[in-house]
Amino acid sequence: MILNAGLVLTILGVTSSIAYASPHAHRTRAALPDVWSQPEDSPVYDLFRSNLQKRQSNDTDDSPDVGSPTWAAQYPQGSVDVTKIPDEWTNALNAAVAAGAIPTNVPQTTLVNDNAVYPQGVNSQDPSICSANGGGTGSCRTNGSIWDAPDGYIGISFDDGPTSNSPTLYTFLQQNNQKATHFMIGTNILSNWQEFLTAYETLGDDIAVHTWTHPHMTSLSNVQVLAELAMTMQIIYDSTDGKLPRFWRPPYGDIDNRVNAIARNVLGLTAIIWNHDTDDYSIPAGGQTMDKVNSMMTQWMTGPKTPGLVILEHELYQETAQAFINSYPLLKQNGWNAVSVCRLFGDDAYQNGTSPDGETDGAFSVSTSTTSTSAAPSATENAAANNASSTGTASGASSSNSSPAILEMLAPSRSSMTAFASVVAALVCAFA
Ligand SMILES: [Zn+2]
Repeated sequence: MILNAGLVLTILGVTSSIAYASPHAHRTRAALPDVWSQPEDSPVYDLFRSNLQKRQSNDTDDSPDVGSPTWAAQYPQGSVDVTKIPDEWTNALNAAVAAGAIPTNVPQTTLVNDNAVYPQGVNSQDPSICSANGGGTGSCRTNGSIWDAPDGYIGISFDDGPTSNSPTLYTFLQQNNQKATHFMIGTNILSNWQEFLTAYETLGDDIAVHTWTHPHMTSLSNVQVLAELAMTMQIIYDSTDGKLPRFWRPPYGDIDNRVNAIARNVLGLTAIIWNHDTDDYSIPAGGQTMDKVNSMMTQWMTGPKTPGLVILEHELYQETAQAFINSYPLLKQNGWNAVSVCRLFGDDAYQNGTSPDGETDGAFSVSTSTTSTSAAPSATENAAANNASSTGTASGASSSNSSPAILEMLAPSRSSMTAFASVVAALVCAFA
């Protein structure tokens, strides 16, 4: 587990109030996958392999059952206390900062009426800042992030789960054999773990990161950004037999060069934004109507297929599930290729391991990009480049943030390898 029990209890203070349903019986969870795609000589592989050996020698039982009190006690129920996160995480961040892999010229935003606002005089659309501006059309696109689908494709994804309303959507997806990416909130996994297991195990869907508490990420300090992402990666890792997510989506589309660099260069995460948004989340509150959402979806489903569609959709409410269900016949009738959004460009959902269905995932993206200095750009990087060039918007590449990973930036230097090893070690350490 990520943190030792004593530390966790210190963090949580009280764990007895955690609500959980009766543990599912007879679940056997392997500590880590049996099959790894990581090359035998990779330092990353070595780290996980040694951890597996440690677990096998120290643990007579497997990792805690998802949903059990022992499992829940490993994580904060609310905001992550950055003074209590593993040293390895902060060490990795500090190493990245020291290596110049995290921009120092991008100020934190402050929240004004729930909007992230940069200090006066700062041009958020300057390539050196590159705010995605809430996913707004024509906004700066941070280095390596994905906004568009390939021509003819629609990337299927749902944000903010798992929730008590997720089953309506999950049943529909299963009935239609439609795979999707679920950008999940860490604290929602804690409170809706049955739905999490349905998405991951029953549906075999892809699990991605949507932060621990759904904050405006540009308003956070570097270490807070790190903690929001890493803790969510950790609960997913712990609850999927060791899968490390490869993708994340910033809440509110709030990302800039600084936030992107922490996600990408320290944790190996690629951001997926969107190119269409119906505001479906605001239907229940009256901010949007189902008719309007249906109308927009119809327009897009029957419209041009260049570029492909990445639509911001949610599994928050019955209404948001229904908006997708309403649009699905049109999606099929118009010949769209509908795939889980994180697989649009051939990448796998995870940085390691295998999918529940036994499909082999790719090697760690970061280690690959950093150890192969002459290798061609990954599919994701090509896709991101295509996104930028096809729309003519600013790519956001700047001298301080032009490399997709700290290891690549400095490759093949020793220090960069150490930086990445540190963060992997942090994840491993959690199991000590
Ligand atoms: Zn969200």
